[in-house]
Amino acid sequence: MSTVKEQLIENLVAEDAVSQRKITIIGSGSVGMACAICILLKDLADELALVDVAEDKLKGETMDLQHGSLFFSTSKIVSGKDYKVSENSKLVIVTAGARQKEGESRLDLVQRNVTIMKSIIPSIVRYSPDCKMLIVSNPVDILTYVVWKISGLPASRVIGSGCNLDSARFRYLIGEKLGVHPTSCHGWIIGEHGDSSGSPSKWMLKGYYVFSELIYYEFDFFPFYNCSAYEVLKLKGYTSWAVGLSVTDLAGSILKNLRRVHPVSTMVKGLYGIKEEIFLSIPCILGRNGISDIVKVKLNSQEETLLKKSANTLWNIQKDLEF
Ligand code: NAD
Repeated sequence: MSTVKEQLIENLVAEDAVSQRKITIIGSGSVGMACAICILLKDLADELALVDVAEDKLKGETMDLQHGSLFFSTSKIVSGKDYKVSENSKLVIVTAGARQKEGESRLDLVQRNVTIMKSIIPSIVRYSPDCKMLIVSNPVDILTYVVWKISGLPASRVIGSGCNLDSARFRYLIGEKLGVHPTSCHGWIIGEHGDSSGSPSKWMLKGYYVFSELIYYEFDFFPFYNCSAYEVLKLKGYTSWAVGLSVTDLAGSILKNLRRVHPVSTMVKGLYGIKEEIFLSIPCILGRNGISDIVKVKLNSQEETLLKKSANTLWNIQKDLEF
């Protein structure tokens, strides 16, 4: 007795089971799902895998995406608690993480997220030893360092989403001020991606072109800038859409080997007088091998001092971490 499928379709060759552009997202929370929908709508992956410890939520999110399959071109969406579903990924995006509890210090949160990374990273590497990893969980600079250490991968393949989002917000704000689309407003935020309550002193601004210079000098920029993430957190409790779009932009550069320049978190030991193994955002060329090159930005002495200060702040936390 033949099946309905056999009656309808004559199979000629067995399908190659290996995906060519597989992306896995670890963590199906607000950020992970924003990344997922953006990646699907941009047609970046031929297979999307989702991993989370919260199985019911994960299953519900997966089904919800699968039911929209008619409207995008990713033919396979899989998910599970077992890292086997992530096998053979080209890119793994890590968004899993604990949120800060009331009364909890930043260091305590870091240690909790380090413990989560310890449970995640070895399995990712086991199933996708050639992947690039894009770390989004906070505090992103420190966790990118931790993931680099745990994974044993070269630093070029462990990338922190870093200041890509901060720079996008910056360009949006310039655009709003001038009535010009952000793609025509240029500027970079480099240095530390501070946590959600990051104080202005943690941010570093480097504006290069006319529009950004204008803003830099005309406005008391730091508080103005810092408001944007803070306001969103205050109003909706988390941020998701902008980070999803920004991470997808990075994923596009990697998977399509675009070699675009992005301000992402990378190992900066040996640069700008930094002596420790610290990850901070500087403009990097992103392509199929991850970070292939860094752009040598000339900083003035005040900017270099600020960058070193960020590096010291991070090192003071990193040196006490246990993993
Ligand atoms: P969320 O609480 O909505 O989601 C986190 C998810 O991680 C949850 O679904 C949880 O079940 C999962 N998880 C926890 N432990 C896990 C484990 N061991 N294995 C697999 N999954 C696990 O949080 P969110 O709002 O999606 O934020 C996620 C992270 O992204 C946070 O650390 C947040 O600070 C960070 N973030 C970073 C940026 C950036 O620009 N880098 C921007 C926004 C948010």
